[in-house]
Amino acid sequence: MAQVVIKNIVKRFGNVVAVDGLSLDIQDREFLTLLGPSGCGKTTTLNMIAGLEELTEGAIHFDGEEVSHLPPERRDIAMVFQTYALYPHMTVLRNITFGLLNRGIPRKEAETRAKRVAERLEIGALMSRRPRELSGGQRQRVALARAIVREPRVFLLDEPLSNLDAKLRVTMRTELKRLHYELEQTFVYVTHDQAEALTLSDRIAVMNLGKLQQLGPPDEIYNQPANEFVAAFMGSPPMNFFTGSLEERNDGWWFVSPVLEQALPADIAIASNGPSKVRLGIRPEDIEVTKGGTDALEGKVLVREPIGSDLFLTVDLSGEALKLRTDPALALDRGDPVRFRFNPAKLHLFDGSTGVNLRRFQAVNP
Ligand code: ATP
Repeated sequence: MAQVVIKNIVKRFGNVVAVDGLSLDIQDREFLTLLGPSGCGKTTTLNMIAGLEELTEGAIHFDGEEVSHLPPERRDIAMVFQTYALYPHMTVLRNITFGLLNRGIPRKEAETRAKRVAERLEIGALMSRRPRELSGGQRQRVALARAIVREPRVFLLDEPLSNLDAKLRVTMRTELKRLHYELEQTFVYVTHDQAEALTLSDRIAVMNLGKLQQLGPPDEIYNQPANEFVAAFMGSPPMNFFTGSLEERNDGWWFVSPVLEQALPADIAIASNGPSKVRLGIRPEDIEVTKGGTDALEGKVLVREPIGSDLFLTVDLSGEALKLRTDPALALDRGDPVRFRFNPAKLHLFDGSTGVNLRRFQAVNP
């Protein structure tokens, strides 16, 4: 168990700034996910927590003790990698006990512990096999067992599910979450997969270009994105965006663009010297197909994509394509006209130059 505090860490590789002044306070027993696109600095951050990479600047503390310059073996962490990193010539049992034996734990005790963890991960029957005789999912379990058996203070997991097929990934995701409940230890998890981040995490740290974009629980990250980057990164299919300007009318502020005019809810904060260019955002599930209504927009169905539980429609709105998530029972096909309206409670408005979500700041600082 450990609290991990990261203070203003920077990592430079020559001219490349991989991590640029990141601070995080990871609570004891928390499941915290570093999420972001390829190259945003997630793995470098994890490696700095592990001690595999030196910090250029800043400090890392575990339970109040500075570990910034301690080698990995003195940090009491266990890592699980995307590639599993198993020893190919060793059996499952040896793979799991290797680290324990290296630390001087008697063989009998190491094997007892290994068997207990292996049973829990349902690989108890595979102890005498070698990694090449295992499926991807079984290898992943061995890698997890090897980490768990060490009883570390912190688990560090770097895209541990990304080499598994889609179905197994979902199963292992649930298992990981259950393991976290049971182990009651601190997990720091790296992924570029937003579904993994949303389902597994207590909190998500969204990163881009080495910088923290937002830190919060999954529902806050999804529903109150701090900026346009977070809004666009979270959600599948992604949020729809329109570029336009603001107009103050008798009934309040309006978003105006060549393709649509939309009244804005009163809680979107617009200063009198507000931005001249803004971006309106609406998620596909926050667009309602309707038969009429004064605020209804009309478009034409370009693509119909049923996925069983939902129907995705790509709609042409005066030359701009937008995505709607709707009821699969709707009898709408390619070329059909469709009327729809945006749920005003779910509209987002971003400053066109800074990307800041104007709505969120109104909500957080009323
Ligand atoms: P991915 O999801 O692709 O693994 P990531 O978010 O984990 O990406 P990092 O691996 O942390 O990103 O890399 C962050 C940046 O630092 C990238 O621009 C990368 O090219 C650079 N980088 C990482 N390691 C090194 C290195 N050893 N030497 C030079 N540049 C590096």
